[in-house]
Amino acid sequence: MTWVEEAREMRSGGMTYHAIGLSVGKHSATVSRALNPERPHRNRQRDWYIKNRAEILAKRAGYYAEHTEEISAYKAVWREEKREDRKAKDREYYAAHKDERKSQMRAYAAENRERIRSYAARYRKEHPEVEIEHGAERRMRISGSSSPQEREAARKFIHKVKTAQRAICYLCGKRLSRGERTIDHIIPLAKGGRHVTNNLACACRSCNSKKKAKLPEEVGVLL
Ligand SMILES: [Zn+2]
Repeated sequence: MTWVEEAREMRSGGMTYHAIGLSVGKHSATVSRALNPERPHRNRQRDWYIKNRAEILAKRAGYYAEHTEEISAYKAVWREEKREDRKAKDREYYAAHKDERKSQMRAYAAENRERIRSYAARYRKEHPEVEIEHGAERRMRISGSSSPQEREAARKFIHKVKTAQRAICYLCGKRLSRGERTIDHIIPLAKGGRHVTNNLACACRSCNSKKKAKLPEEVGVLL
């Protein structure tokens, strides 16, 4: 018995195309086509598309042209929503390829030392307001001020703040979209603040960069 005959028998026994497909090892659509050769199926849609292609494409182009802003706003929201996902995936990838990535980065840094140095110098000159605390120094302050458990709790807290439905800047009170949120050490690390959950707060980019290593009292904010 061929699989089609077998399928026909199962169909007359009342089985669904899906179940038949599973039992004969074919896609349900293949089964349905084989048992109903007279039915035009999806080709109808394809024929229609080919026949009207020029018109369909022109219509689509017109729609895009008329709704450019709307579409790009929609895409921006979508990207924003996917941001945390992407970051989590990046983190996962980085963890899996840590050594490889580190040696790649070291090699890149060694090869481009001058370029990196001049870029950093230019950035500092163009942004005198930004006090850049060196990565290593900052990391030391973070790890020196908290236990691994506290850092893990802080990481979770930061993730929660960044993905929460709503969040406001603790300094200016503005409601912040996900992309606008930064995390501030309420008592700065440079002033002995610790990298622990109750010393972290959500701030907007502009307040955070204005505050830098100041205490909240010094920027005139009451908590
Ligand atoms: Zn703010």
